[in-house]
Amino acid sequence: MQVTQPKLLFADQAGRVMNHDTLLPAARTGAWLTDVQESEWIPLPDGATLTWLPGTKAVGIDPKSGEWARLGEDAYAVGALLPQGFTRLLLPGYVKRDNDLTLPLFGYTAVGWRDGKFVVAADRTANPEPWNPAAISDTEIEAAVARVLAEHPDNRLFKHISGCALEYGCMTAKNTFLGRIEGALPVSSTCNAGCVGCISEQPDDAPFPSPQTRLQFWPSPDEMADVMLTHIRANPEAIVSFGQGCEGEPSTRWPHIVQAIRHVREETADGYININTNAGMTKAITAIVDAGLDLMRVSTISAMDEHYNAYYKPRGYDLRSVAESLQYARDAGVYTSINYLVFPGVTDREEEVEAMVEFLQETGVKLVQMRNLNIDPEYYLARIPTQQGDLLGMDAVMEIFKEECPGIRIGSYTVVPPVGWPRRALSARQA
Ligand code: SF4
Repeated sequence: MQVTQPKLLFADQAGRVMNHDTLLPAARTGAWLTDVQESEWIPLPDGATLTWLPGTKAVGIDPKSGEWARLGEDAYAVGALLPQGFTRLLLPGYVKRDNDLTLPLFGYTAVGWRDGKFVVAADRTANPEPWNPAAISDTEIEAAVARVLAEHPDNRLFKHISGCALEYGCMTAKNTFLGRIEGALPVSSTCNAGCVGCISEQPDDAPFPSPQTRLQFWPSPDEMADVMLTHIRANPEAIVSFGQGCEGEPSTRWPHIVQAIRHVREETADGYININTNAGMTKAITAIVDAGLDLMRVSTISAMDEHYNAYYKPRGYDLRSVAESLQYARDAGVYTSINYLVFPGVTDREEEVEAMVEFLQETGVKLVQMRNLNIDPEYYLARIPTQQGDLLGMDAVMEIFKEECPGIRIGSYTVVPPVGWPRRALSARQA
């Protein structure tokens, strides 16, 4: 059956989105314009949003000649912002009008219009439903926040997270108040890295703001344990996670995290204690693992030193330290994953894939969480080493990981370990 080819979307200066009658959407991989294969299109998922890209010119493809076609002065590029559960395969096709204008920190994805519906160049990598913002109503969360704050009036951490839940609409923060799936435990205001696209702190001269404001106080171990126990008692299968978008690097507070974990594990063997970390402080990570950590998610953008260092700007550590932290956690029975910041045209370069396969095999990571990197493509590409090697495609990257690392899972967010995975809390109690 003949499938209608999607048409190009563009926006005017007021941000009104329109479709072109004939031109097909151009997309981008890294700095290169490309077309979109039929197999790369999926319907725009629930919870996705469209955005126009200020300072850009939309680019299409003439279906007859196959030539690139730029639209008029008043036509801006349009991209989609995907919800949890979806991996972006290609960026929107555009050229910059003004190279001095830097786009805000979002994960821009190629989008098109077909038979009256929006389509995007993406892959459904995990079940999006648990993290669909529509899953929680405003009245429900407002009531839960009011109840918990009334029950814990002196806990500053609950107070902070309530702002994240009600003002930022952070799903992890909302989960904390509703005893759902995975809850937030931000604890640190400092970091041992200086990521180019940090969402909680940007240098004063950065051309875009950080979307989140970093925590400005130090929660005590008792405040941490109170939030963890409240969540776990509400849901014995809950995940409580140190390391949130509104903080620095949690392991910089390892002595207090160790106290909090010990306090919780004295009270209960239920729930899963997780840390989202850059894992650069290996000694700190080993202490947190020894205290009773269950899950560890390590954020990374590459297994190649030059690229990693150019993006993370690590202070006092390197990728070797990160690998050692992962190996220590693995050997101690912690279920480990990576929060892989991915970008089409970089992540799917042959040498990046080879290096990451080696890193995954060496560290025994169990889950790769594909995380669309939120950043202006030009800004990012100008700050990392020039990419070499063939482009394999983002879909192929996920297949190669599964082939080369048997048993590894590909997902989009932290999940409880598979059935049969030994519970550290129980074995610690039986010891
Ligand atoms: S590790 Fe996290 S908090 Fe630290 S600079 Fe990077 S993104 Fe920001």
